[in-house]
This record gives sequence, structure tokens and C-alpha cells, in this order.
Amino acid sequence: MAVRVTADDGRQWWLTERIGWGGEGTVYAVADVPALVAKLVPRPPDPAEYRARIERLVRRRREPRTVRLLSGAAAGAAWPRVAVTAVRGGVHGYLMSDLRGRYRPLADLLGTDGRRTGLPSATWRTALRAAAGLATLLAAAHAEGYVVGDLKPDNLWVDRSGAVGIADLDSWQFTDRGREFACRMRTAGYTAPETVAAPGARRTGAGDDFVLAVLVHQLLMAGLHPFAGLPAGGGRYVSLDDNLAHGRCRLTDRRSVALRGPLPPVDLLPGRIAALLRAAFGPEGRLRPGDRPEAAAWAAALHAELADGRLRDCAENGRHVYTAERPWCPWCDLARRGREEYPLAPGGAVPDGAAADRWPPRAGRTADTTWRTA
Ligand SMILES: [Zn+2]
Repeated sequence: MAVRVTADDGRQWWLTERIGWGGEGTVYAVADVPALVAKLVPRPPDPAEYRARIERLVRRRREPRTVRLLSGAAAGAAWPRVAVTAVRGGVHGYLMSDLRGRYRPLADLLGTDGRRTGLPSATWRTALRAAAGLATLLAAAHAEGYVVGDLKPDNLWVDRSGAVGIADLDSWQFTDRGREFACRMRTAGYTAPETVAAPGARRTGAGDDFVLAVLVHQLLMAGLHPFAGLPAGGGRYVSLDDNLAHGRCRLTDRRSVALRGPLPPVDLLPGRIAALLRAAFGPEGRLRPGDRPEAAAWAAALHAELADGRLRDCAENGRHVYTAERPWCPWCDLARRGREEYPLAPGGAVPDGAAADRWPPRAGRTADTTWRTA
């Protein structure tokens, strides 16, 4: 059933198809405005605070600092454009850009099946670009006083070239004219250790920096979560966050987890990236948020790995790209062990990336899937 929404200035829109939904929010197509979608949040913890948050974000979109942010590193952000309220029921929400026209869900780049269907020409270079772009975006957002707070694949998008989009800005934490709008959302597996330990604590950029490291690891290791695995020694597996709390991480302590292979080899990571990941996931990074590599350091290191001469193309497979630090192709090694992460099309060609653009977005898949209150 179509939903009619109105803005404060009297403009009205009809919301038609539901294109995504989660714990708290629903995303709709907007009739006659294909470039926009609408998100409505029926039961936020504090509706008045939620409405004020959206209004402040909408106003800030026109302020010079945010204009600069959105014309640069955060060009792919679906910033709230207009605060709206459902005519029947009074539910609050906002209009934002529809990222589906250009981007695919980041999850597609993390999974073998998603890469095959959604990003068939993606390579490790695409993943490295996405990691670098995400780090740049976060560094710029932090510099303007924003904390993403609930950073996770479900909020992130990526295009064929590796450019990154981000949605669900209504959960960002920021201070506007002396009033702080706190982030209350968190997602299992994408929460910094200090927030796992104290879910109600105030969020910081250092929390984003930790989750950035998790996402960089996943992007560069074909989707593998850094804290995945069964506790070594036969302990019971509880969750990724439990492994995190106990420091069970393949990269920092190989013997702490048991993982079923074949797995991407740890040495496919360039040395300086592996060092940053170990700094984030080792005891210092986990226990002392201020000692973690910051988004700006990640951005510099990741962009450096994209420089001329830093990447090699495999002679066997046109989708195999790897660091020049490595003498031979890690993706061929992995394929020989039964796991091809970057398959070629039948006949040995690199799949046509343009085909990805013609793929209809899958129903029910949008950035807005999980909203969890702390
Ligand atoms: Zn290869």
C-alpha cells in the first residue's frame, strides 16, 4: 500500500514499493522521483529526538563544511535531503539518494557468490580501492566531527571501480549547536571491543577505526572476518564478538583459532597493511582505542598500495591481482587448492563488468537491514 509523506514546507510524495527493511527502518521507492528513496523509522527509541536529528542533518547538508565533505571524500554518502512525516500515522523519516543505480551492496564484494553475480569483473584491485576509499571517507567524516558508530557492510555500497557509497546516516553521531546526537546502533561482528564490553558507552572515532580494520581485512582476504574461527583447543564457539573479546584472531595468533580451509594466505597482505591490521587487532589495538591506526593512516597506506608498480596481474587469470611484494599469485595457489575467488567467464575471458550494471537490484536488499539498539 502506498504511503503519503509530507515535508514541513507542504511538499508531498507517494512512497510505493518497499525495497528494504530492518529492525527499525523501512526503505521505499518514491513515486515519480527515481533518483530518491525514502526511509521511514516507525518506532525510534525517542521520536522527537529522531526528528530533530534528521532536521539537523538536512540543514547541515547546506553548510560549507558538509558541502565540502559531500563534494569530496563522502561523495557517495546518501545524506538526508528532506525530513518527511507520514500523513497517516506520523512516522518520521527522510528522503535520500537511491544508491542502487550506481552501486552494489558491499557484501557482494566480500562473498564469492556476490562477486560472481553482482561484481563479475571485480578483482583484488577493486577491493583495495574500496578499502582505500572507505578509509578516506571515514577520515574526512571524523575530521568534520562525525562518528559513523554503526559501520558495517549492510550500510556500505561499492561500484564496479571500487568507489564506496554509505547509507543510514541517521545513525551517525554528531554534535550540532551544543546538542549531541548519540549513536545507539551496533552490529555483532562490527563493534569495537570497548563497545562490546560497554554497549551504552559513548561512541568515538576510534571505534570506527577498529571496524574499518575489520572491513579492510575482509575486503583484502576475500571476505574472511579477522575474528572468524572455532576457539583452538576445543572451546565452545560463541560469536565473533566473543572471539574478539578473547583475542582469538588468525592474523595476530595463528594458534588461537581453528578454521576450515582453504583460506587466503596471510602473506597475500602487503607488509605495511599486515602491520596496521596487527596493530588494530593485537592487544594494544583491542585494549587501547587511542593506540589504534586511525582512518587517515589507513587511507595513506592503502592508497600507497595502489601506486604504479605495487600490484601485479597474474599471467594465468586476468582477474587475479596481487601485491608486488609476493613472488607468485596467491589466488592461483588458492584455486589449485579448490577455491577460486575470482573466476573467469567460460572461455577464459574476464567477465564483462557492464553486465553488472544491468543486473536488477535484488528485492529486499538495501543498506538498511539491521538496526540494533545498544
Ligand atoms: Zn593467479
